[in-house]
Amino acid sequence: MDNCIFCKIAAGEIPSKKIYEDERVMAFYDIAPAAPVHVLIIPKEHVLESAREITDEHAALIAHIYQVIARLADELKLDGGYRVVTNAGPDAGQTVMHLHFHLLGGKLGPMA
Ligand code: 5GP
Ligand code: ZN
Repeated sequence: MDNCIFCKIAAGEIPSKKIYEDERVMAFYDIAPAAPVHVLIIPKEHVLESAREITDEHAALIAHIYQVIARLADELKLDGGYRVVTNAGPDAGQTVMHLHFHLLGGKLGPMA
């Protein structure tokens, strides 16, 4: 999709600190980390703007994303646990309208 920053990152048009990629998804470090470890996981295709539009059609993709997140948490040695956040819509503070999941690790504060 034109003018989507995450589509451009997925296409390699904007550089990112990538830590994982396969045919469906990509993971890279957030440019403004909100936790000691802050990684973004995105579908490479602009399938959805947010989690609000998820249907049965996306079940395999979403399950795959959560498996990738668990694998990354192992690799990043987040042995004490981690948090997955997906912001949907303005009240949640979503700024990039390309479905993405935040993997947050390290010592985390309480939920907002
Ligand atoms: P949202 O607020 O939409 O849930 O999250 C968007 C996230 O993308 C924010 O945490 C923001 O720091 C991150 N972000 C925005 N632009 C870039 C970029 O160009 N590169 C990287 N690595 N992260 C970005
Ligand atoms: Zn996009």
